[in-house]
Amino acid sequence: MTGTNTAAHIADGEPARPTVTGRFAPSPSGRMHLGNVYAALMAWLSVRSQGGRMVLRIEDLDDRCRRGRWDALLIEDLEWLGLDWDEGPVYQSDRLDRYERAFEALRAQGLLYPCFCSRAELHAASAPHASDGTPIYAGTCRGLSAEDVARRRAERPGAWRLRVPSADDPRGDVAFTDRVYGPQHETLARDCGDFLVRRSDGVFAYQLAVCVDDAEMGVNEVVRGRDLLGSSARQMYLQDLLDLPHPAYAHVPLLVTADGRRLSKRERDCDLGELRARFGTPEALLGMVAHAAGIAPDARPRSAGDLVELFSWEAVRRHPANLVADGPR
Ligand code: GLU
Repeated sequence: MTGTNTAAHIADGEPARPTVTGRFAPSPSGRMHLGNVYAALMAWLSVRSQGGRMVLRIEDLDDRCRRGRWDALLIEDLEWLGLDWDEGPVYQSDRLDRYERAFEALRAQGLLYPCFCSRAELHAASAPHASDGTPIYAGTCRGLSAEDVARRRAERPGAWRLRVPSADDPRGDVAFTDRVYGPQHETLARDCGDFLVRRSDGVFAYQLAVCVDDAEMGVNEVVRGRDLLGSSARQMYLQDLLDLPHPAYAHVPLLVTADGRRLSKRERDCDLGELRARFGTPEALLGMVAHAAGIAPDARPRSAGDLVELFSWEAVRRHPANLVADGPR
């Protein structure tokens, strides 16, 4: 009984949390790339400049991210960069019972319904799309009767969607201020529609898992790529429904290639294997990233620790920085 965290917590009361807790939350679907380095650096700098605590959470719910494939390399790359953490790695695949509980709590509120729409139906040419590219759900399965559900379920397993308030119901209006992009506002019914909390293969959706985890890990500052800016309203809505606190949000610009395309895992020359070989030291790479991000006056090599005192959110550029062209070839 002794020595477990739980026992220590009970003996000493709740451990005092430092004011700021941030996180790295990578999905190990491939090697880290330059965009991940940028987001990870900013998350780390923000936390360390405030004397806060960092959590590493491996988001491995999706099959493409299965444990034992890319996670070890990802951890090694973070270590090489000198971006350390205080808690973790925590694997989402070890936490399914938590997501199940949150899922059941939403279901008990009568907010979930099964959806049997195929990918092709969802992506129909006429479907409007949310800012993150997911189709805005037309509500096709919203009103299925119990008999319809039973009949459809015999054909294929259903996914689960969360019913969002109608567009004229103020409960579906979500507003927040992003530290980089300023005031944001979404009307869920219009901007994303009823969204998935569990896929038809049983995998919990990112939106649900991230809310449960951030709250349970005490994360109160979320720093990530701009591609997830449009997810924040959904997450804040879920946090309200599950009675969880809202973290502060900072989304950082996406990086583009020399010819203006968004960086992705497909750009082999920007993965960390390639970058480590090209830059040679973490300082050379981080110095370049920090300069392009707007926080270092020049691209001189600098360690993560050197950058802490240069960091401020005011300095961070909003527009996409072209890091590739600036780096050594
Ligand atoms: N796992 C997500 C990704 O790698 C990030 C999730 C988040 O930061 O909320 O894109």
